[in-house]
Amino acid sequence: MINRRKSRQVTVGNVKIGGDEQISVQSMLNKPAQDIEANVQQAKELQEAGCQIIRTSVPDVQAVQLIYALKNAVTVPIVADIHFDHKIALECAAAGVDKIRINPGNIGSDDKVKAVATACAQKGIPIRIGVNSGSVEKELLAKYGAPTPQAMAESAMNHIKILEKFDFEDIIISIKSSNVQNMISAYRLVAEQCDYPLHLGVTEAGTERMGIIKSSIGIGSLLTDGIGDTIRVSITDNPVKEVYAGFDILKAADIKTDCPRIISCPTCGRTKIDLISIANEVEQRLRNCNKPIVVAVMGCVVNGPGEAKQADIGIAGGDGEGLIFKHGEILRKVDEKMLVDELMREIERI
Ligand code: SF4
Repeated sequence: MINRRKSRQVTVGNVKIGGDEQISVQSMLNKPAQDIEANVQQAKELQEAGCQIIRTSVPDVQAVQLIYALKNAVTVPIVADIHFDHKIALECAAAGVDKIRINPGNIGSDDKVKAVATACAQKGIPIRIGVNSGSVEKELLAKYGAPTPQAMAESAMNHIKILEKFDFEDIIISIKSSNVQNMISAYRLVAEQCDYPLHLGVTEAGTERMGIIKSSIGIGSLLTDGIGDTIRVSITDNPVKEVYAGFDILKAADIKTDCPRIISCPTCGRTKIDLISIANEVEQRLRNCNKPIVVAVMGCVVNGPGEAKQADIGIAGGDGEGLIFKHGEILRKVDEKMLVDELMREIERI
């Protein structure tokens, strides 16, 4: 059982982050900011995939149009990612954005920070402070010699103090690095020093395979420590894949339990059935199932029935056919071609 860090709760549109709220999965649009149509289409795809918060870059004032378009197109909360320019933040707040990602230490004078904090406070818009290894200030790099976890944590705490100076505490923090060990250490340091909710992510994690592996280790380690309130898997690929990976990390850590848990064997010389295709098909067909059941997909009857005893339902391969088990009891023998359909039929009955 994970003992979750007590964080305060922040509201982003129709999603709550922190406290006892479920850990949300977010992603980011990657179409050119000026291409409103492509971004709207991608936002719809992310919403369809279950994405709970969508972030978009707003590189200039013209791109604020995108916020209006996205707010009209999807119900998922929209986050504006802004660097330096407080005017863009003010325009996004006026456009009805649900959260702003900006680092207050980079905005400039106190007046500008105050203007952003006041506009966000009036509209109930939280601010995410997003520190990453590349954004650590020169003074901290000089002090620590490199963007160490201590340097990143100190940078985050400094940004927090700037907002707190203006009585703004509707804050979410991220402290990302592409180095997984540094990322884990930095989040642990910040988790001890404040109770703001934490957005977890490994930045610039890489292409699909390594990006998901690095994100799983970084995000997964922290989640199993009880740290983290919302997550973003970052991969150089279609962001819809980030959403699926995010939910899969929550499933693998046994945090998301309103879904089937699939056990499947690695296959071996005893396997006489195309178990690899079968297991992939079962996983695909159960992607939207919300039953908290254990489903065993085993290659033979040597271990199949044993595993199926722990499982609510399972199949074990034979030669061109398979057995369907329910709590270890054989239900029937089924032709290989009908095996997945029959398994789905049984799962529907549970
Ligand atoms: Fe091999 Fe059977 Fe074990 Fe699968 S369950 S790895 S087929 S012995």
